Amino acid sequence: MNDTILNPHYAELAESYLFSTIARKIAEYRSAHPGAEIIKLGIGDVTTPLVPAVIDAMHRAVDEMGERSTFRGYGPEQGYEFLREAVARGEYAPRSVEISPDEVFISDGSKCDVANFQELFSASVRVAVPDPVYPVYLDSNLMAGRKVEFLPALAENGFQVELPKSPVDVIYLCSPNNPTGTVLTRETLEKFVNYALKNGSVILFDAAYSAYIRDEKLVHSIYEIPGARECAVEFRSFSKTAGFTGVRCAVTVVPKELETLRKMWLRRQSTKFNGVSYVVQRAAEAVYSETGWAQIKSVIDGYMANAAAIRAGLAQCGYTVYGGEHAPYIWWKLPGEEKSFDFFDRLLKSCEVVGTPGSGFGACGEGYFRLTAFGEAAATRRALERIAARLK
Ligand code: PLP
Repeated sequence: MNDTILNPHYAELAESYLFSTIARKIAEYRSAHPGAEIIKLGIGDVTTPLVPAVIDAMHRAVDEMGERSTFRGYGPEQGYEFLREAVARGEYAPRSVEISPDEVFISDGSKCDVANFQELFSASVRVAVPDPVYPVYLDSNLMAGRKVEFLPALAENGFQVELPKSPVDVIYLCSPNNPTGTVLTRETLEKFVNYALKNGSVILFDAAYSAYIRDEKLVHSIYEIPGARECAVEFRSFSKTAGFTGVRCAVTVVPKELETLRKMWLRRQSTKFNGVSYVVQRAAEAVYSETGWAQIKSVIDGYMANAAAIRAGLAQCGYTVYGGEHAPYIWWKLPGEEKSFDFFDRLLKSCEVVGTPGSGFGACGEGYFRLTAFGEAAATRRALERIAARLK
């Protein structure tokens, strides 16, 4: 093959995806220490099984698929109406946000939606992403050959993302944030919405962790901000809300005020995507039943108890920590000048605990380390005991 036929922009990406690098380091450690009992507080994957209401709905849907009269083939690319209605009713109506089912798109994950949405913009648009942040926004734009501006989110300003210094057309925001576990305030979001309205920009708002917000007064959806319907697209996922990381289901909302974009996303999805399975959509619908929601809340409470234990445990050891109050991530400030990838190795060797180096999420993440609250409670507490006893 002639290499000149390849997309040259892939060469601009960091050598390998962050979590592949971490997986390789763990595998190397394991092969050198076969008896190691490694506790993983690294990758943001859930550990609690699906709740009974979801399992029951799945079983019923599987039975339907086994009967000629209720069997379903291809579904609508935008998602079944029953789920789009349930999302509008269950996710938005309780916060007095009016979203119509026509504005809701069901997909098999937020990762692909946030990565694919940039296809709708011209190659020359100016893009801004927070730093640090979920790496998919950056990499998907680099793959498309775009230059990206970084918007620092620093401890000094409470991890509130700063407005772009030069004009940008597309802005990614993520709140509650992965990796800092902090939330954007209403004032910050108003600032961004006003900026977007003034400059004709679009905000791509990732609310994958909104179910973890403990304070009802905090903003859960960008559409709680006046004017957001004219400038913002929102992404939500059942992955962290309901343990669907292995089941795969997510939501993208494109409001009718952005009608051209809404039609383009429908066109894009109809061409390149063939819908989420009926069984999975029935499972997702069950999340919004009274029983389903109560069961899910109790799973999230369990993760948030882990988050509180991590915060308290590290603080007791004298460390500074951020996040973890409205998100399943704790952002650990490393003392001194140690690089976060060096700390990864030190933590693995001294405590056999795995986290994620902050620099993997952007230059402003250097000097920080992300721990997740998704581990099992007992393992999380064991990890903290080891950190208190062995990390020097
Ligand atoms: N958005 C953020 C901020 C995430 O952290 C993640 C997963 O970790 C996703 C999106 C991806 O979610 P999904 O499992 O729906 O693809």
